[in-house]
Amino acid sequence: MKLTPYWLDTATPSGDHRQNPVPERADIAIVGAGFTGLSAALEAAKNGASVVVLDQHTVGWGASGRNGGMATTGLAIGLGKAIKRYGRDRAIEMFAEYNRAIDTIEDLIKENSIDCDFERSGKLSLAMNAKQVDGMRKTQQILADAADYSVRVVGKEDLHTEIGSDFYAGGMVDPLGAGMHVGKFAHGLAGAGTRAGVTICEDAAVTELADRAGGGHTVHTSRGTTQVDQVLIATSGYTGSVTPWLRRRTIPVGSFIVVTEPLPQETVDRILPNRRMAADSKMLTYYFRITPDNRLLFGGRARFALSSPDSDLKSAEILKDAMSTVFPYLSSTRIDYTWGGLVDLSMDRMVHAGQHKGIHYSLGYSGHGVQMAAYMGKQIALSMVGKPSRNAWENLPYRAVPGHFGPPWFLPFIGGGAKIIDRFNS
Ligand SMILES: Cc1cc2nc3c(=O)[nH]c(=O)nc-3n(C[C@H](O)[C@H](O)[C@H](O)COP(=O)(O)OP(=O)(O)OC[C@H]3O[C@@H](n4cnc5c(N)ncnc54)[C@H](O)[C@@H]3O)c2cc1C
Repeated sequence: MKLTPYWLDTATPSGDHRQNPVPERADIAIVGAGFTGLSAALEAAKNGASVVVLDQHTVGWGASGRNGGMATTGLAIGLGKAIKRYGRDRAIEMFAEYNRAIDTIEDLIKENSIDCDFERSGKLSLAMNAKQVDGMRKTQQILADAADYSVRVVGKEDLHTEIGSDFYAGGMVDPLGAGMHVGKFAHGLAGAGTRAGVTICEDAAVTELADRAGGGHTVHTSRGTTQVDQVLIATSGYTGSVTPWLRRRTIPVGSFIVVTEPLPQETVDRILPNRRMAADSKMLTYYFRITPDNRLLFGGRARFALSSPDSDLKSAEILKDAMSTVFPYLSSTRIDYTWGGLVDLSMDRMVHAGQHKGIHYSLGYSGHGVQMAAYMGKQIALSMVGKPSRNAWENLPYRAVPGHFGPPWFLPFIGGGAKIIDRFNS
């Protein structure tokens, strides 16, 4: 079993950027070579800016190369909760933003000829009980009435047309959700950026940001210093001590994945006949999909711990059991890959993008960043180069996590609460 992400193991790297010298000067420095940073870099370079992307590891090393590869519709908090918090019109506008984000990915792929198995196979949300199915019917009605948007609710009796499992009580299909190979997408964005003139510096940890007298910033890295006019922080769940204001607002939660051996076509057709991107409604969600080469990718917040080789292996055991509970006929299927990564939760589970003390940032994707990170990267870059841009999350209060100044000591407590709620709902 490999402990590397399947996506990075099966993608051709865009190049070796570990030796690229850190330039003495650039218009824009971007910290983080994930979807946010890479799509921002591409957009800024296409608009004439000189851009350097700095990553402490390699392209796609963070959550962007470690996720489920699901570019799906819908807010992290769900539409019902968003309406209660923000009112119907704003909530619908926020919901629509996720669809725009998927369209943006599709456009980026086409415009830059990125071969990454993008497919609009649809999203399947799965309910644990009849009450959750009723909630899906209400969501369906609101979407139809307020946004003229069509989703389909599938009752228990028909659920086998969508999933080969008796574990769930019903589901909801949104046909606009998409899946892709995120390793190929990350490297495709990096390649397009490089062709547009972006300098990518891997193995270049940013160690300090300092304001320059007269404007601009000095960015200190483990491989040299660069003077820039503007900085974008695109570090999601890996946000650290260089930006303490952002770290206080980011809850890094470990999420873990196992990927099986390649499966026979008839097994794939039984698991998810329509190859949708599936996720259930538990607090400790299971999410799963078929990979382009017919493996089952099965993920979840198996443990409330951070990712490490030891933690990833323990999580693999838990996830294999979970996979066998949902799909009993896979109990003797071999696991070829396991890994973990950090999800960047915000207190309100909403995206936060803006400026703090002259430094730009976009993070808080709360587990829904495959589409949103690439989209917001582009939007933030447009605003940085002085072009019209969209930011549906502007002016949302960005609250700090009380008592959070370093490693997230509070995760086991959140995990315990979530497990109790799931037991209650099952
Ligand atoms: C296991 C898992 C499953 C997920 N599944 C899904 C899914 O199916 N669908 C979905 O929509 N979202 C999913 N997500 C979330 C999604 O992957 C992220 O929201 C998104 O990739 C964030 O992209 P990013 O570019 O903002 O950050 P990242 O891709 O995390 O990149 C941040 C980068 O910053 C670098 N960095 C940090 N500090 C420094 C520093 N000081 N100096 C230099 N570099 C630094 C890191 O090395 C890292 O490469 C998942 C996340 C995980 C972990």
